[in-house]
Amino acid sequence: MTRFVQDGPALRDPYTSDWQLQSWLERLLGPDGHAAAKRRLAALSADVLGPLRTAHHDAETHPPTLTRFDAWGARIERIDVSAGWQTQRAAAARHAVVALPYQPGTVWGARTRVVQHALLHLWGPESATFSCPVAMADGAAALLTQVAPTSPWLTRLTSTDPAVAVTSGQWMTESQGGSDIARSTTTARPGPDGTWLLTGDKWFCSAIDSAMAVALARPEGAGPGSRNLAPFLVPRYTTDGVTPAPGLQVLRLKDKLGTRAVPTGEVRLDDVPAIPIGDPAVPGLARMMTLVVVTRLHNAAAAAGGMRRGLEYALSHATNRQIAGGILADNPLHRATLGGLAVDAAGAYALAAHAFTLLGDDPTGDELRLVAPLAKLTTGRLAVASASEYLEAFGGAGYVEDTGIPRLLRDAQVLPIWEGTTNVLSIDVLRALTTGEGARPLLHRAEIAADAAASRLPGVAEALIAATRRLATDVETAAADPRNPRVVAGARELALRLGNTLTAALLLEHAAWAADRGDDRPALLASLWTLRRLGGADVSADLHTHFDQLI
Ligand SMILES: Cc1cc2nc3c(=O)[nH]c(=O)nc-3n(C[C@H](O)[C@H](O)[C@H](O)COP(=O)(O)OP(=O)(O)OC[C@H]3O[C@@H](n4cnc5c(N)ncnc54)[C@H](O)[C@@H]3O)c2cc1C
Repeated sequence: MTRFVQDGPALRDPYTSDWQLQSWLERLLGPDGHAAAKRRLAALSADVLGPLRTAHHDAETHPPTLTRFDAWGARIERIDVSAGWQTQRAAAARHAVVALPYQPGTVWGARTRVVQHALLHLWGPESATFSCPVAMADGAAALLTQVAPTSPWLTRLTSTDPAVAVTSGQWMTESQGGSDIARSTTTARPGPDGTWLLTGDKWFCSAIDSAMAVALARPEGAGPGSRNLAPFLVPRYTTDGVTPAPGLQVLRLKDKLGTRAVPTGEVRLDDVPAIPIGDPAVPGLARMMTLVVVTRLHNAAAAAGGMRRGLEYALSHATNRQIAGGILADNPLHRATLGGLAVDAAGAYALAAHAFTLLGDDPTGDELRLVAPLAKLTTGRLAVASASEYLEAFGGAGYVEDTGIPRLLRDAQVLPIWEGTTNVLSIDVLRALTTGEGARPLLHRAEIAADAAASRLPGVAEALIAATRRLATDVETAAADPRNPRVVAGARELALRLGNTLTAALLLEHAAWAADRGDDRPALLASLWTLRRLGGADVSADLHTHFDQLI
């Protein structure tokens, strides 16, 4: 008897097969800048196809463990991680996924962040979520660069030598308050030799195997509320690099839905030595936001990267799978389904790329203050919805653990939770609307993009103009009275509309640039995004007809 065995999905080279990524890099970096990045991107892509895929699988199938005591009862607090996790750690350093923007004199200048984003886009989905400690290491490095640029920890966070490089944890959440960090009870008091001593429990500490963490604590004598909390650098181990810092206990590892390769601990601090980051007498939440903005952007990068990789796997399966009437990839309904996912993946990429561009160009500007929460919340929601579709695109196999497909959904679900849930970020967006320039740059951008599109894509321009006008009115109402319960109740809807509108503008900007160079594919993506997400149109027939140009 011959037995049918379905081929598993193959992965093409994630860099050379992604025309959209290449097209954006060509515009954002210029042809010379893109040419200068190619060697790096190709090298990482080759590793993703080979050793990193294997390491990813190993780390996912061998989750970390915690051993709190040795056989004789001595406290050891040892975290064991897989070989695959260590391979990812070394790769993160070698490929400079944290270090690149901190290297002086790169040919890309402020746009080095764009190259970093491309690296994250290629690597994240096959990183066993090592992208999480990378995000926090980048956030910690950004904070130290701003406040303590001579810190030896900064040198280690931004090293490309795997023997030297370290990552960082970020200890903010406490059991009684994650979103509401004003409820934090961890305290800091001056200790000997300029160090401080931290005492309290932290409830969610990812990458607990990192060599350091940035912890929020309330300095002795500081007032209540979140703004008076201050960031402290906690060396996780003593100088031997193995013995936990005195007074530091890892109570247990979390048994999580996803991100299973990442050791996430609950931590008790009992007079643990820590180094203040900045003056603890000065309210420190604003300092901490430097870190949080960076990690939120990494979250958006993870969402966009995961969506693109899910699409790749679903496409591969569709070309392998026979259904009634022929090959799945030829079926109009399936093509429209995957086409919609391709448009969403393009939108998520555009938004994440824009956020990284702003991070390089103007990291403390008003625009990024609005775009960081918008990018995170918009891409986080898209990523979860898309991941669910990717599982469905595999039928029953998408629900079976060892195909590797269910992980897409499990890992996507953290994206709208960590570093601010959708609602909490929407409240942040409301705040940003009343600060500095508020939504003006975003609305202006949308108007310009619509004007530029008017001659080539009149229907699309009309949809964007109508959406922007409605948005301008609603933004004005919200900014005038952001605490009004009706405004607060509508904050999520408003934020998602802002995110979708900004994405339409970004896609159209890129489309205009590409059309001048004879490439109409970006215009197709921009049109379908705008008509569907802003105009509420049913574009299924177009998704089917133009499917081959979308992917
Ligand atoms: C896998 C994973 C890893 C994590 N790693 C870390 C880490 O390394 N470091 C760290 O510090 N934290 C970490 N976290 C914690 C995470 O940041 C928090 O769980 C998150 O901020 C939400 O806080 P919470 O759990 O207390 O939920 P809550 O704040 O209690 O939220 C519960 C619900 O209330 C809603 N809500 C809360 N406040 C408001 C508001 N003002 N308006 C409207 N709705 C509101 C939320 O949207 C949510 O739906 C991690 C979480 C996960 C899942």
